[in-house]
Amino acid sequence: MDCLDGSLGQFRNFKKDDFEADWIKVAECRFGQVYQVKLKVWRVKCALKSFDTALYPNSIYRRIIDEASDIAKVKFKFVASVYGLCSDASAVVMEYMSNGSLNNLLASHTLMWPKKFQMIHETSMGMNFLHSMTPPLLHLNFKTSNILLDDHLHVKVSDFGLIHCEEGMSKKLFMENLTARGNISYIPPETFTQCPDRPGTTFDVYSFGIVIWEILTQQKPYAGCSMTTVLLQVSNGKRPCVELIPDQKPRECDQMISIMTQCWDQDQMKRPHFSDIVKKTEALSEVLKIPGPIQCDKNDYQHDKNSILFLLSKKDFGSFKESVRKEHVSSQFSGKKSLL
Ligand code: ATP
Ligand code: MG
Repeated sequence: MDCLDGSLGQFRNFKKDDFEADWIKVAECRFGQVYQVKLKVWRVKCALKSFDTALYPNSIYRRIIDEASDIAKVKFKFVASVYGLCSDASAVVMEYMSNGSLNNLLASHTLMWPKKFQMIHETSMGMNFLHSMTPPLLHLNFKTSNILLDDHLHVKVSDFGLIHCEEGMSKKLFMENLTARGNISYIPPETFTQCPDRPGTTFDVYSFGIVIWEILTQQKPYAGCSMTTVLLQVSNGKRPCVELIPDQKPRECDQMISIMTQCWDQDQMKRPHFSDIVKKTEALSEVLKIPGPIQCDKNDYQHDKNSILFLLSKKDFGSFKESVRKEHVSSQFSGKKSLL
């Protein structure tokens, strides 16, 4: 490490040797790997996201390196912190998020409505923060695998600012970079056209609309469709099926659906700004807030008392839902039975 004084708050250039030898591989992706590592000196866990440099166009990789120090300056409760680079591992070193990505959580657990609304709101706060910078920091790679979860299942937006569409860069290269990451569902229709405009904040707002749908339905958008089909359908104004949102939903869900459909409007000028979205998601998540802690002796829950009722493994959900309904709903959710 270049210097050991100060805190992790500063941008640093780490060496492989600064970490304990046992690197735990958390994920293997097309463009690299993510490891859980431990800093020898401070004994903290970090995530090390390595880039397979052979798979990156040189200009894009260089840009990641050049911009990492700026990205590391971004500190906010709902944004994952970047600590620095580890150049000899071609990696970015960032905050370790113990509960992985929202993408994985949505597939493995059934979330209850208050937790869904809270996650949507926290995500919109993270995005609002990035867009409120001058100039706005565009994410352009916003998806449920880039929404990470801390020890208490609170949300942090990650991997922002790593994708760019620079002046002179062809839209084709930009699109290739996104589709190779499996991002087709999150790309707004205007990106598919010949229009010369570079993406702006409305790009991320569109992606947020798709993220809301995924959280509300706990399904993958356009499942089973080829990339070409998605591209054609989305260009013609089609979107993920709203009917897949469960019927048993709180009244407030209609307002959340309205935000979602505004976010993915075909006309990018009609999409709202995060500064407005965040006020609405705040109000909605406040309405559904659970009043006070709920005790429960099930094994399969997270330790945060506020998460107990919100998160159950799918296998246990059916039976536990019934017991929760009988034991707690009347006392804790008077007038809100539709929450479950
Ligand atoms: P992209 O490179 O476009 O962001 P991706 O998000 O699918 O693609 P990665 O960013 O490499 O791929 O992340 C893969 C997985 O690694 C995530 O789904 C998550 O489970 C895990 N992961 C990523 N970053 C962290 C982190 N900081 N802490 C803990 N786990 C992480
Ligand atoms: Mg990622």
